[in-house]
Amino acid sequence: MSFKIYCNCNHCEQASEGIVSYAIGYIGNTEPEVKMECSKGHNFTALNHIPKFAIMFENGLTAFNNGFYIEAFSCFYSAIELFRKDFSLAYFHSYEGKKVIDLQKHFKVIKNSERIYGIYQLALGLYNGDSVDKEFKNIKIKDDKQKNDIIALRNLVVHAGYIPSKTEVEQVGYYIYKYIVTKYQTFNIKEHDSNDPFPWFAIMQYYFDFSAEHCEENGENFKDIALNKESDYTIILSDTYTSLQLNSVTDIKNLPTFNDLLTLNKGHNINKDGIEKIVNETDTLKNT
Ligand SMILES: [Zn+2]
Repeated sequence: MSFKIYCNCNHCEQASEGIVSYAIGYIGNTEPEVKMECSKGHNFTALNHIPKFAIMFENGLTAFNNGFYIEAFSCFYSAIELFRKDFSLAYFHSYEGKKVIDLQKHFKVIKNSERIYGIYQLALGLYNGDSVDKEFKNIKIKDDKQKNDIIALRNLVVHAGYIPSKTEVEQVGYYIYKYIVTKYQTFNIKEHDSNDPFPWFAIMQYYFDFSAEHCEENGENFKDIALNKESDYTIILSDTYTSLQLNSVTDIKNLPTFNDLLTLNKGHNINKDGIEKIVNETDTLKNT
């Protein structure tokens, strides 16, 4: 999986007194690091705080917008599976005091999605008492001809070659979106002060701590990076690049519609393949 991101080039910014130049990178499997390169050839490292589930969900929206419904279905369903993993890791980190790097090491050997679901149900049960995950299991997807539980529909698609209709894919995407955002925004860190009007999302904290531990292991100063004092590093935050808007204060009783999400997705520069154009335009501006 590679997902294109861009940000201002730190080196150009320092050298050219405020003229913006963009750097591009591709999120792969080298978490949390992403190698960035600007059009002038400067290289630096981005520490990525966008959860993989949000990237996968965004790819689903892009696929849906382009008419690739089976691909969209598989991205949406992968997003929920990846979300369960992050929720579990963040739970054991925030509530059981385990280091992110240790948790990731042990989680790496658990590849079966059913087993990850089991761990998630344990974490969810310990957090809010719903170890059965009724909310998800009770989701029903309706078509003209049939009605399926979301899990039964997924098994039909993955194991029996069933081709989901556009309306089924849309419902799956939207239910998964509502589920993820609601869970994300109501899952707060243990130390959170209930009088604080701003929630402190546990998964957001998990990503910060992941970067901090990673920097510590590699002799980098995370605090300086966070304060933008290190030109060889930058931090990529979630909400700029994906339509889930995880860390924005969202009214979870009045969420955007599926069409709103599709529109947000179309608006991301990342989907227009236009970043190279922006970079080139910046170059032209500089050279004139
Ligand atoms: Zn540069």
